[in-house]
Amino acid sequence: MNNLRMVDLQGQYQKIKKEIDQEIFKVIESTQFINGDVVKEFQKDLENYLDVKHVIPCANGTDALQVAMMALDLKPGDEVITTSFTFIATAEVIALLGLKPVLVDVNPNTFVIDPQSIKNAISSKTKAIVPVHLFGQGAQMEAILTIASENDLYIIEDNAQAIGADYYFSNGTKKKLGTIGDIGCTSFFPSKNLGCFGDGGAIFTNNDEYAKKLRSIVNHGMRIRYYHDDVGINSRLDSIQAAVLKVKLKYLDEYNNKRQAAADYYDSHFKNQAKLEIPVRAEYSDHIFHQYTLKTNGIDRDKLREELEKAKVPAMVYYPVPLHLQKAYRDKRYKDGDFPVTEALSKCVISLPMHTELDKNQQDYIINNVLKIIGSI
Ligand SMILES: *Cc1c(COP(=O)(O)O)cnc(C)c1O
Repeated sequence: MNNLRMVDLQGQYQKIKKEIDQEIFKVIESTQFINGDVVKEFQKDLENYLDVKHVIPCANGTDALQVAMMALDLKPGDEVITTSFTFIATAEVIALLGLKPVLVDVNPNTFVIDPQSIKNAISSKTKAIVPVHLFGQGAQMEAILTIASENDLYIIEDNAQAIGADYYFSNGTKKKLGTIGDIGCTSFFPSKNLGCFGDGGAIFTNNDEYAKKLRSIVNHGMRIRYYHDDVGINSRLDSIQAAVLKVKLKYLDEYNNKRQAAADYYDSHFKNQAKLEIPVRAEYSDHIFHQYTLKTNGIDRDKLREELEKAKVPAMVYYPVPLHLQKAYRDKRYKDGDFPVTEALSKCVISLPMHTELDKNQQDYIINNVLKIIGSI
């Protein structure tokens, strides 16, 4: 088997090629490459899907986070609490804006930011919390909402990896992840659960004032043409990307279900293996498996990955270096050992191929190789 990939965008495209090509050609023929009607149409569709009042499309997920922080008027020196176990973009924008990233540890089972650690990190300068819904599963939003309201903090959700997942509140209601805090952010990077054919992103909010400000900031701080009320940036979602997303949004639930089915199949073969721990699914959130991430137990994770590579089974480590140990973010506040859970995870996690096109043959091949290798190392 030599066609295994972490993500199979080819196979996914082939199934909806006609629809996608047609929508892309419509944009080309209209020549409305920027702010075409289709951008507004996709925006409305996504607002309906997420049941959120405002969606503000933008150029990528990193910009979405940056614009969210700009809209909340955070000032240099303000502290923003986020997780040490995430993709770098989350902390990058905090640092770029001259704010102070305050990193905290994560839950050892679900890998999401730990509420008690957030509490311990709050100071008089703390202004916001950025929970990340990691690998397709929600952070503990109910606890985080309580902490935020008790301490008067904003919540910006980084939902780049969990679009479409529901969060279940203890009172029986549910909401889509990304629509729970003050502002939510997502990415449409091609490999995300809802991906376009290049870069793309969006910001969500139910607050009318924030929405106005966010819309202004993504467009040079301009509310009326050539009148600039805010310092902004240029961060737009191209019409061609919006056309792709408008088609793919219709399939998002189906895509997420396929990922869950593939995860179930992996689980059924790995759950009784002493050397592996299958992903823990929290009761309070859907898990839509942006990544299928195992914890290895008492074996050399890097050896497993090497051997898998020899068998042509791709595997990745998300994330091999915690944020507080990254060269660019080294800070005298932090040292090796400060975040024991994150540090242990960075040494034992491994992610297997996970996408919408995985079939049983492919999964059997992956599973058999994993089992064979862990039996021999
Ligand atoms: C992908 C990702 C981002 C950044 O999105 P881009 O569109 O690549 O800028 C931010 N946060 C997390 C957790 C991500 O996975």
